[in-house]
Parts: sequence; C-alpha cells; structure tokens
Amino acid sequence: MAGVHVYDRFLRQDKLPHIWCSGCGNGIVTNALIRAIEKTGIDQNQIVVVAGVGCSSRANGYLDFCGLHTNHGRPLAYATGVKMANPKLHVIVVTGDGDSASIGGNHFIHACRRNLDITTVIYNNDNYGMTGGQYSPTTPTGAKSKTTVYGNIDTPFDLCKLASAAGATFVARSTVYHVTQLADLIAKGIEHKGFSVIEAMSCCPTLYGRLNKLGDGPAMLQRFKDQAIPVQKARQLSEEALQDKIVTGVFTDRKDRPEYSDQYQHVIARAEGRE
Ligand code: SF4
Repeated sequence: MAGVHVYDRFLRQDKLPHIWCSGCGNGIVTNALIRAIEKTGIDQNQIVVVAGVGCSSRANGYLDFCGLHTNHGRPLAYATGVKMANPKLHVIVVTGDGDSASIGGNHFIHACRRNLDITTVIYNNDNYGMTGGQYSPTTPTGAKSKTTVYGNIDTPFDLCKLASAAGATFVARSTVYHVTQLADLIAKGIEHKGFSVIEAMSCCPTLYGRLNKLGDGPAMLQRFKDQAIPVQKARQLSEEALQDKIVTGVFTDRKDRPEYSDQYQHVIARAEGRE
C-alpha cells in the first residue's frame, strides 16, 4: 500500500518526526534493532524496550513495544525488575555510552556478572550528545569535547572488553556503516539465553564530529567503513597496528553459565521445599 513502510508497525507514528539531528547515527541503530527483532520473529507484545536518558534512549519513544523510559543510567536496574517479574518477556535495553558506562557503570558490570537474559544495545557516539557534548567514558584519548576542549587525557573504556571481563555471555560490536552486520549481531544477542551486549559505534556529527573536525554524517560513516576490522583479522595484528581501528564481530559467545532467572526458580523451589 502506498505510504506504508514494512517497519511502520514497529514505530509509534504519532511520535514522529524524531528529534535526532541530520546525519545522526541513532536512527540507523534503531533501524538495525527493528530489523533484528523482525528477524527473530518474536511476538511484538512479548518484547519490552527499556531506555535510560540521552539521545540514544529517545529511541524508546519511537519504538512501538511495551517500554520504560527510566532515569539516567538506570535502565538495567529497571530491566532486571521486568525480567525477574516475568522471565517469559524478551527485555531489550537501549542505552548510550554515558548512560551505560558512566552514570550506569555499576549497574552495567553487575548485570554482566549476573547473566540475566537481557539484551543491551549500546549506542556509542563517544560523547554525551543530549546534554551538550561533554566527554564520556568512551571518548578517545586526545579527542575534544565540551569538557575536554584541550584534548581528553583519560583512557577510554573498551566496552566489549569490559562486558566480557565482567561476565556477559554474548558480546559483539559493529558500526552504523555496517547495518546488516549490526542487525545480525543484535538478533544473535536477542536469541542468546543470557546477558548480551551489542556495542553499536554511532556518529554524532553535531557535537563530537564538529568539535573533532570529522565532517558530516556521511563523512563519519565513511570513517567507520575505513576503520572497521573483523575480530579474526585483528587477532593477528599488534596493539599499535590496531590503534585507530574499530574491531567488529563477536568477542564472547558462552553457553557454559546458567541464566539468572532460571537459577532463581530453583531458589523459589528450595524455599517452598520442592527441591
Ligand atoms: S546531538 Fe549528536 S547524538 Fe544527539 S541527536 Fe544530535 S547528532 Fe545525534
């Protein structure tokens, strides 16, 4: 039918047009998430999308699923409550680099540790977009932001290494240039039974891109194309050779750890004397 898009059923039409800047990568990540959900074939009514605060978390307002738009840094705490209350639901968290790794950093590492069956999609644009372009825990060393005008002297987190080390059982990364791969990885994360983290390298041309002279949205996409290197190839290179690269693919895919809500059923059974 004319004027109807195949993904319209996943979007709240009354909330459009969206607020994102021209050239922002957030729409691409959100599109990849919709593609991934469609690919899994999971009933739309069985999905809950939980967001924190930030430009990325605004995605929750546009996605037509049951959802919660929560406090800054706290989506994983709310998502944990939803999943524990009804383990049959598929819970997806949409969050940013600041929301997940700074304000919500403690929630993040403990969610990884627990291995509750939640999928977390991190829109990583290397800065706090919504609050004006302050530096975040993933801002590269030397990069400029509103709060590092002479260059960032911090060492950024590698969010995938952090997630894997903290115990997440599925961890992957792609970029907004590699849309098909990104959607595939998110789908794998949703289908994985356990805590999954998919880092989506996204672009913020309005703030991070402008302050670091990286050009407009298409120019930043081109950079992702040039910087990306598959994890299998990266394993053969030195740390120096990987300096400005973005390693993509699956880093962790473990099936050896029990899922938290399953474990909790045993606790209930023991409390009731059934085990
Ligand atoms: S400020 Fe940056 S992250 Fe936020 S909508 Fe604009 S381009 Fe996107």
